[in-house]
Amino acid sequence: MSECIFCKIASGKIPAKEVYRDDRVVAIEDLNPQAPTHLLVFPVAHHDTIADASSGGGPLAGELIDVAARLGTERGGDAGFRLVVNTGADGGQTVGHVHVHVLAGRRMAWPPG
Ligand code: AMP
Ligand code: ZN
Repeated sequence: MSECIFCKIASGKIPAKEVYRDDRVVAIEDLNPQAPTHLLVFPVAHHDTIADASSGGGPLAGELIDVAARLGTERGGDAGFRLVVNTGADGGQTVGHVHVHVLAGRRMAWPPG
């Protein structure tokens, strides 16, 4: 079975600008940044969506949010940051390996389009 792009980044088969890694979680810079800071936090293990990652009741979804919030705090400082988890077609997910976007460094509109 062929690996998805984030599996290949997690296993080092294709390069990325990594900003964090532990046994279970990787964070990289987004190739097409939508803010001065735009990071992607994802698990080393493949799960399609946040629903899949949390369905077993294990700690993984929380670990992703913990890492994302830590990086957002580091990058956004007192001005804040945004975490986004696009899920499925209506959610705008284009890479089918769950990931948390960390956006910071500019004032962002709400609600999204
Ligand atoms: P989403 O639309 O929520 O699935 O987000 C996928 C994100 O992955 C987009 O922001 C892309 O710019 C980003 N992306 C896709 N391929 C790569 C890559 N090889 N390295 C870094 N970011 C990527
Ligand atoms: Zn994958």
